Amino acid sequence: MWEPVIFFLVSVPEANYSPRRISTATASITFGLVKKLVSSRLPTALGNFTMSAYGNEPDLFPHVVLQAPSIDGAVPLVRIHSECMTGDLFHSSRCDCGEQLDQSLEQIGKEGGVLIYLRQEGRGIGLVEKLKAYNLQDDGMDTITANEALGHQSDERSYEAAALILADMDIPAVRLMTNNPLKVESLKSLGIEVSHRVPLVIAAQPENAGYLEVKRAVMGHYLG
Ligand SMILES: [Zn+2]
Repeated sequence: MWEPVIFFLVSVPEANYSPRRISTATASITFGLVKKLVSSRLPTALGNFTMSAYGNEPDLFPHVVLQAPSIDGAVPLVRIHSECMTGDLFHSSRCDCGEQLDQSLEQIGKEGGVLIYLRQEGRGIGLVEKLKAYNLQDDGMDTITANEALGHQSDERSYEAAALILADMDIPAVRLMTNNPLKVESLKSLGIEVSHRVPLVIAAQPENAGYLEVKRAVMGHYLG
């Protein structure tokens, strides 16, 4: 059993840590409180999975893991997906989250792997602030300047909980499904080996073309 880089999490918090974030579920997980609460069988249209909830008991908003069996000994296919209620649940055209979620689940359902669904809505700023940012975007700001105008970082997500969940599952190395280079670097800094990056190719729509272009040009995402 290997250990994630817990000492890093506790002794050298990320520069963008703020007292506000200390009260989030993610921060409490930072201090070693993540645990598997329950697992259950979950057949879906995209594949047959085992669904597990990770968090602090009692926790109404646990992180969620969907796992389909992988080939023994192979580095598993892993998607770490941050919650986006508008995209994942309501199929919003403002972003590509829903399509990324469906595409990754379908692929994991077929060849096996793990989807970790982290409860950090709106790149970590929460649903209410995200909707305020949407209003600013409708007034002409892009996704980054809107978040900053509300006093947030452009991206406040952290992947510590994902690293701890992977450690609990005894998965030290992953083939990571992502277009986000920052996510790859974050995982590596947390002690997870990323053996390959598996791209998610999503076609732009009229409503999200500007958002995707900002992700490519400003946030360095690999798109197209
Ligand atoms: Zn989204």
